[in-house]
Amino acid sequence: MSTISFKRPLVSDIPVAVAVTVWLLVTANATFWTKGMLYFGAHPTALAAFAAAVIALHVAAFLSVSVKYFIKPFYIFAIFAAAAASWYADKLGIIIDRTMIGNITSTTVNEAKHLLTGRFVTHMVIFGVIPSLVVAWVRIDHKPFGRKVMEHIIVIVPCLLLAGGLVFLKYPGFSSTFREHHDLLASLNPAAPVVAAVKYGKTISAETNIVVQALGTDARYSEPGTHPGKPHVLVVVAGETARAQDFSLYGYERETNPVLKSHDNVLTFADTTSCGTSTAVSLPCMFSAFKRTDYSDAKGKGTEGLIEVLNHAGISTQWWDANTGSKGVAARTVELTFASGDDPRFCSNGECRDDVLVEKLKQELPKVTGNTVFVLHQIGSHGPAYYMRYVEETAPFKPDCRSSDFADCSKDEIRNAYDNTIAYTDKILGDIIDALSARRDHILGAMIYVSDHGESIGENGLYLHGAPWFMAPAEQTHVPFLAWLSPELVIDEQTDIECLRARNTGPHSHDNLFHSVLGAMEVDTAIYDQSLDVFAGCSAHRASQ
Ligand SMILES: [Zn+2]
Repeated sequence: MSTISFKRPLVSDIPVAVAVTVWLLVTANATFWTKGMLYFGAHPTALAAFAAAVIALHVAAFLSVSVKYFIKPFYIFAIFAAAAASWYADKLGIIIDRTMIGNITSTTVNEAKHLLTGRFVTHMVIFGVIPSLVVAWVRIDHKPFGRKVMEHIIVIVPCLLLAGGLVFLKYPGFSSTFREHHDLLASLNPAAPVVAAVKYGKTISAETNIVVQALGTDARYSEPGTHPGKPHVLVVVAGETARAQDFSLYGYERETNPVLKSHDNVLTFADTTSCGTSTAVSLPCMFSAFKRTDYSDAKGKGTEGLIEVLNHAGISTQWWDANTGSKGVAARTVELTFASGDDPRFCSNGECRDDVLVEKLKQELPKVTGNTVFVLHQIGSHGPAYYMRYVEETAPFKPDCRSSDFADCSKDEIRNAYDNTIAYTDKILGDIIDALSARRDHILGAMIYVSDHGESIGENGLYLHGAPWFMAPAEQTHVPFLAWLSPELVIDEQTDIECLRARNTGPHSHDNLFHSVLGAMEVDTAIYDQSLDVFAGCSAHRASQ
């Protein structure tokens, strides 16, 4: 029996390293080269020098890893990493930095499945699988050690000299461009995402030994009001991916807040900046005592936060999650997840709308006996599957994008779907106010709502969120921040709502949340900062403290 065999070509490692370099720089770096041309546009010689240095460094790097049994896995890894990263960079304007690697590792199957579209899979086959098969197929001619070293020196040294010489000659232009445009090198594929993954790994290993420092152990509930037997119940709604500019309460030309507008005692806090551009950064930061400028992931994880301070004051807390979890914020309190429930009224395909949180609130409010803070972590406007966040039949903006692949939809359809999620959050917040109001004889209710970050829906070619802070557009960093105080609470504390409106014209930020919740719950502690409490200074009872 004879077998047909295709002879696998035997190739030197030098042309293979050059071929991989060319493949990656040509197919996976459209965003990188577009930015390069834009930033060096006025200086064609600087652009040419930059391109030559990039190519030379890649050839040197890819040749230097030419070790038997290592070279092929390394090339295949680089090809896959570049193919995946380029999809997000070129289609959605997303840069894979350290934070984004954190987002990827903390994502859920439900979140991820919306990004794994048919077009993405096709892209990965063409730009990942096929070139990897070619790399696996060719035989690399690994020369005897001495000869290989000589050959490598002959190629790598001139490459490094060329790159170094070009950088030296063009240093002033290069350095000012890199300083002004951090996003240029941050979009180089696959170097940037691989460096980001290494940095992320370092942070994770540094965090494994963190001992959590206590905070606000002096916290006490002070009761200036006149409400014997009536517990304070504050619902903190941690919003998801809602941007301020699409709220009609903030001047959006479309009516996305008909419900909130119909309620009295709704306060909107203007010009609010988020702590991060992703859930994994913003959420722990919002609930920590650190200001954004002073916050780091390690500090957030290493110090107790708002939930613990409330508990120190004897206030009970619960975290209910319709999203991807509290990111450690609720590690030391009750955390219940509703993200993949099976209530047929609100859930389908393993995902639920935010109504599940309102249902839980209605069940729990009659059981409340003491001061309580419920945190409701919404799924809100989480994309790209916006259409799954609201009820199609009652959605106000049509036609809406009903796909998680934006390439299936027009810009208007994407905007309609996104605005439908905002209108749905408006309804959910109204439902929460109604649930609290229904218990007015038993509790003093209040609600604070603030989104974790905003969203790009096509402005300047950007979609979704997670842009590095230094280059994040306002769409991703300006969030709605509002509160509702029940009439009972307003009377009890002799709060002047118009005074609060006048005092809170902005700017605000996530820094305000920690102190405003302590203020709303009348918690005394040395770490409380009245200047960051949006409720301070307008209550006759509390002014006497
Ligand atoms: Zn988020």
